[in-house]
Amino acid sequence: MTDSPIRVTVWNEFIHEQNQAAVAAIYPDGIHQTLARGLRDLLGSAAVIQTATLQEPEHGLSAERLERTDVLLWWGHAAHDRVGDQVVDRVQQAVLAGMGLLVLHSGHGSKIFRRLLGTGCMLRWREAGERERLWIVDPGHPIVDGFHEEYLELPQTEMYGEFFDIPPPEEVIFISWFAGGEVFRSGCTFRRGKGKLFYFRPGHETFPIYHDAQVQRVLANAVMWAAPCGASYRPAARQVVDPPERLTER
Ligand code: ZN
Repeated sequence: MTDSPIRVTVWNEFIHEQNQAAVAAIYPDGIHQTLARGLRDLLGSAAVIQTATLQEPEHGLSAERLERTDVLLWWGHAAHDRVGDQVVDRVQQAVLAGMGLLVLHSGHGSKIFRRLLGTGCMLRWREAGERERLWIVDPGHPIVDGFHEEYLELPQTEMYGEFFDIPPPEEVIFISWFAGGEVFRSGCTFRRGKGKLFYFRPGHETFPIYHDAQVQRVLANAVMWAAPCGASYRPAARQVVDPPERLTER
């Protein structure tokens, strides 16, 4: 890890907050601004936090911006299809080259998540405002640094249930139980190229999930975990090569 601050971009499609009064009441400046404030409070000088939205040119994710992003957070729901394929290509390449990516809640259906994982990424769901208990099943993982309880709870959430159509994760950090009985792999990591991915389930727009101190702490930890390290990635090229050692014929 270097001494220079981690450069974070929080991306939000920013639609529900502009057309649903109930969501605007919880996130008057948009989910991205609430996420950004939480990260600034917790990470201080360790990170520089910027935001980007769907409505900006190139969705705020130009090549220049991605070059200056170490970790990208992604919140989308209503407008996955409106994200341009060229931007998806660009984000994918950035991840392969080492950029960290945190995909939040309904971002499971985003083009970028499905592209990187290669499966349908769908799940079962219900909006009943039920209780969610997120069991910590990898207590030594840096993403749960500072959590001393065996689980954390959210009083009102949208339910996501298994089967969650993802490839087997590299690590599972949280398994959720819902009051209605379902379970879900709520915190999963993957690696693609040199990039680290973390999927984190909580975050439905009609509940104040991103104001929750525990959720903010998980995301701040995840930013630190996902930050790139080491040399940049070079994709393997198909090539005929000479051996590094002399081959002797027998
Ligand atoms: Zn939702």
